[in-house]
Amino acid sequence: MSSYHAVPVVEPPDEHNRRLLANVHPPDWLNPEPPAKPYHLVVVGAGTAGLVCAAGAAGLGARVALIERHLMGGDCLNVGCVPSKGVIRAARAWHAVNKGQERFSAPAHVGTGEFSEAMRRMRRLRADLSKIDSAERFRGLGVDVYLGDGRFVAADAVEVGGKRLRFKKAVIATGARASAPPVPGLAEVGFFNNETIFSLTELPRRLAVIGGGPIGCELAQAFARLGAYVAVFDSGAHLLHREDPDAAEIVQQALARDGVRLELGVKLMEVVKRTADGREKSIRFERGGRADEFVTNEILVAAGRAPNVDGIGLEAAGVQFDPRTGVKVDDNLRTTNKNIFAAGDVCSRFQFTHNSDAQARIVITNALFPGRAKNSDLVLPWCTFTSPEVAHVGLYERDAKERGIAIETMTIPLHEVDRAVLDGEDEGFLRLHVKKGSDLILGATLVAEHAGDMIGELALAITHKIGLGKIASTIHPYPTQGEVVKKAADAWRRTKLTPKTKRLLKLWFATRR
Ligand SMILES: Cc1cc2nc3c(=O)[nH]c(=O)nc-3n(C[C@H](O)[C@H](O)[C@H](O)COP(=O)(O)OP(=O)(O)OC[C@H]3O[C@@H](n4cnc5c(N)ncnc54)[C@H](O)[C@@H]3O)c2cc1C
Repeated sequence: MSSYHAVPVVEPPDEHNRRLLANVHPPDWLNPEPPAKPYHLVVVGAGTAGLVCAAGAAGLGARVALIERHLMGGDCLNVGCVPSKGVIRAARAWHAVNKGQERFSAPAHVGTGEFSEAMRRMRRLRADLSKIDSAERFRGLGVDVYLGDGRFVAADAVEVGGKRLRFKKAVIATGARASAPPVPGLAEVGFFNNETIFSLTELPRRLAVIGGGPIGCELAQAFARLGAYVAVFDSGAHLLHREDPDAAEIVQQALARDGVRLELGVKLMEVVKRTADGREKSIRFERGGRADEFVTNEILVAAGRAPNVDGIGLEAAGVQFDPRTGVKVDDNLRTTNKNIFAAGDVCSRFQFTHNSDAQARIVITNALFPGRAKNSDLVLPWCTFTSPEVAHVGLYERDAKERGIAIETMTIPLHEVDRAVLDGEDEGFLRLHVKKGSDLILGATLVAEHAGDMIGELALAITHKIGLGKIASTIHPYPTQGEVVKKAADAWRRTKLTPKTKRLLKLWFATRR
């Protein structure tokens, strides 16, 4: 056994981050000696995709190696879903307190919040959750865990920490990283991205967020609710441009109400330091030919992600890739080397933890067995965790149009749902796209405070082709926001009453007077 890995630094180096590191990159970790026989599966990258591949394959009895150069758990645990949702939860709590009196006649509160404590809470919970992704746990599952940079050196071998691991099958699960737009001065002045923003211990007074996609919107709203003056910059005319435009509009209004300044349709021209110590920076931008400027203390870049395909020896392994779209895979997630597969952000247009998990399961089936599981069979829901949340599954209206699928669309506003009204959370809607002439749901967009928790029923319906007829005959508890799904099903059923049925019903009731 030997150790050959640089120990990452996770700021701030407090007890929680030390606990995190002890789990996901133990400083004293000794890499194992590779076995004489090739591994059944070598997994490069221990984010969600890699962890699920390794645990699944080891559970089936395969000889498995898992290689991680930075932090096991990858983006989701360390610098993505987990810390962002921890911060968002704190921001929601602060918002509820700040608005409690105005909205619910709650007792007045005094004093200001402790941002550093809210961040400490997030770090404590992240460290608690990290046990499940820990090197020790994976060793216990029978996986050979190697910490270090993994690099393919042949079509059937990877090198890590000076050791050569031979394999029958391998998985590339190296994920993606934040990319930054080429704005003059941005790199020199300095900025945060998702890898660094969760290390903050002090709230920036002013924060400029570059990028109005899901990550930009979630964090902009959270930091505004925690007390920063936030501006979001995006070249598009709307935030969340991939979402249903009505859903995006609600989020846009919600952010504006929370005090976020929206600078949309802009071109960023330059970033400059305003003070010698860099505590004040200026973002210069143009909209429709008119120049403007925003003075800020910090900048958060959330403007797209690039796949991690460099420096991992893909050429040596005969694996084709594109620096923008990642590793090239077929529908079985097989790369151009028939013994190497890929899963997760490194090869996917949909960059979500649950997508990485689902793709890893496809890879286990196809790499270890003569399976033919298909990526295109996945029904993938997702959610942007703003307030309200926007969750989606299946087709958008534009997808149906592009594919020439005839649909019927129905929209149920949340103000028709009693519980949403009582909660003061009635801004939003459920929009369903149904295959014309049938009750089969093809797509759903839900805007609601807890849309992410409610979209599961619709994902189930689409995955298993459960029609609106069956949903209409399913009892939903009253009063819940989830009733919106039942209301949509009832609305659909009402539209199915033909004029003839209506006439017959009228006659029937006439005879019952
Ligand atoms: C701020 C933010 C919030 C997010 N919120 C959500 C959310 O709420 N819900 C959701 O579903 N998704 C969310 N995501 C997306 C989610 O984090 C990713 O989709 C998910 O982490 C991808 O998993 P992965 O395994 O494909 O890649 P990663 O998690 O990126 O893991 C890849 C791993 O490979 C390692 N690696 C790379 N190269 C090598 C090498 N040569 N040798 C060894 N190891 C290597 C990396 O260090 C990394 O640990 C969020 C992302 C961000 C940035």
